Amino acid sequence: MIDRNEAERNTDTLKVHFAKLLSSEEEHGDIGIASFKSVYDTLMPVQKEKMRSIVAERFEELYESGSIICLAVSYKDPVIDFINNDDSGSTNYKLWNEYSKEYDRINQVQNRMSKDIAACFDGIALPATIGGVDDDVRHVRDYFEMVISHRVVAENAGVGWRGKNQLVIHDRFSCALRFSSVIVSIPFVQGTKRESKCGNCTACEDACTFIKNRESLPDYRENCRKYILFLKTKGIGKDVCGKCIKACYQESLMKNQFNLSR
Ligand code: SF4
Ligand code: SF4
Repeated sequence: MIDRNEAERNTDTLKVHFAKLLSSEEEHGDIGIASFKSVYDTLMPVQKEKMRSIVAERFEELYESGSIICLAVSYKDPVIDFINNDDSGSTNYKLWNEYSKEYDRINQVQNRMSKDIAACFDGIALPATIGGVDDDVRHVRDYFEMVISHRVVAENAGVGWRGKNQLVIHDRFSCALRFSSVIVSIPFVQGTKRESKCGNCTACEDACTFIKNRESLPDYRENCRKYILFLKTKGIGKDVCGKCIKACYQESLMKNQFNLSR
């Protein structure tokens, strides 16, 4: 049973601490807290196994009353413009790679912040991404067993809603966010899933044929993975594409409410 007063105090302390970390890193973002149970119950079977191996003997206690903190750090303008930019008449892959570098930089920020928060709140940090696994991945399915989905954490924390592009859409930052997570057992006030606000918007589907045809493709995420491998042959250094992020931020029905910092 969660002690509400203690949970509120811990949540306030966490939010103040996160704001200081964001400020010291000169970043913007948001924070949310999901119940461990809601995340665990939503994970794919292979990710459930991964979660059990990460938390080991703490599983029962965490499943009963634990939380997972979602740390969200946003991209800054104008980096989203750099994705698939063809202002010069053809796709500017060099510029696109600047977005890829920013992805990598924010991941490093996330890894520092999640480690810090884990140390302060006796938690277990789950880094923004895992690197150096390309040789082990032959199909997108191979990737699933290696990670806990930060999107599932963010969604269950109520940081945003799950968009048609399968990313988590924040009220201010759209899906131009990177996530990391921290598993904790002390009491916090937990958020809940939100209803989708996508409505009649189709901007991400218009930008990506794989998203548009996701119902008829065997697994559109595999098409996405292969497209990202193609982009690497064009000089994009990290495993990113980002066209569905750009579409949501710049073309969606909600584009006027989204606002990244500079
Ligand atoms: S990252 Fe690119 S290929 Fe993958 S779903 Fe988004 S737009 Fe499509
Ligand atoms: S582009 Fe539109 S439909 Fe796609 S995730 Fe964003 S708001 Fe939803």
